[in-house]
Amino acid sequence: MSFSSDVKNEICRLRPENICCARAELAGIFCFAAQIKKQSIKIKTENEAVAKRVNDLTLHLYKLSMDINFRKSGLFSAEMDNVEVIKILRDLRLSSIPIRIDKNIVRSECCKRAFIRGAFLGSGSVSAPVKSYHAEFVTSHYAICADFTEILSFFNITPKVINRNGNYVFYIKDSNHIEDLLVILGAHTQMMNFLNVKIEKEVRNHTNRRVNCENANSEKRAGAAVEQTHAILLLHKKIGLENLPARLAQVAEIRLDNPEATLSDIAAQLGITKSGVNHRMRKLMQLAREVEND
Ligand SMILES: [Zn+2]
Repeated sequence: MSFSSDVKNEICRLRPENICCARAELAGIFCFAAQIKKQSIKIKTENEAVAKRVNDLTLHLYKLSMDINFRKSGLFSAEMDNVEVIKILRDLRLSSIPIRIDKNIVRSECCKRAFIRGAFLGSGSVSAPVKSYHAEFVTSHYAICADFTEILSFFNITPKVINRNGNYVFYIKDSNHIEDLLVILGAHTQMMNFLNVKIEKEVRNHTNRRVNCENANSEKRAGAAVEQTHAILLLHKKIGLENLPARLAQVAEIRLDNPEATLSDIAAQLGITKSGVNHRMRKLMQLAREVEND
C-alpha cells in the first residue's frame, strides 16, 4: 500500500471533533473531489475508507447516506442524486458558481484543519519519504485556489500552485512543511514514520559526506608522502643520506622504510612531536629543491 493510502486510512479513523469540523471536512472533500451538479454529488476515489468516510459524514450531519459502489475501473464511487443534495450544498455554502470556500465554514482553527483533511482525502497525495519529499492537492476549481492557499498559509505552509492538464495542483516539497501537514491532518503515526525515514536519510548523507572527506584527506596525505619520498631519493643520489645532519637522516630513513606512515606514526617511532617531524620533513624538501637546481 502507498504512503498516501496509509495516511488516508489513518485519518479516516479519526472522529471529527465537532459538528463545525465535520462540515468543514465534508466541504473540503467536495471542493477537491466531487463532481457537483444541481442536485447530484459524485465522488470517485481509489480508497474505500474515503468513500465510507463521506458516507459517515453525510449520515452524521444530515442523516442521509451516499450510494457506495466499487467500479470496474478499480475506483470506489460515493453518489447522491436527489433533491436533498441542494440542502447539503447550501449548508456547506457550496451552491455558488464558481465554487468558493466560504469563510464561515473555515472560521476556527479546528475547522481549517478539518477542511485541509477533507481536501487531502479528496485529492491529496504524499510520496513515501524514502523516495522524495512531495505532497500535493489537485482541484479543477480555479476559484478556490487563493482561498485554499490562505488556509494553508495560516499554518505557515506555502504551496506552489501550477496548472496541470487543466487542473490546479498545490504542491509542497519542503520536508518540514510536509511534516507539519501530516500533523495538521492528524496522521500522527505516519508523521513518526516519515520523520524516522527522514532522520535515517540525513544520518546516511552525513556519514557519506564524512567518508568522502576522510578519503580526500588520506589521498592528500598519500600525495605528500610520495613527494617526500621523491625528495629523499634525490638527496640520497646527489649527496648521500649519511652526509645529512643526523636528525634529518633519521626522518629520511624512516620515510623510505615506511612509505605509508603518517607524520604522527614517524613522530611516534622517533619519540618526538609531530610538528618536530613536520619541521624536519620541510627541511629535507627544501634541501632537495636546492640540490635539484644545482
Ligand atoms: Zn471546527
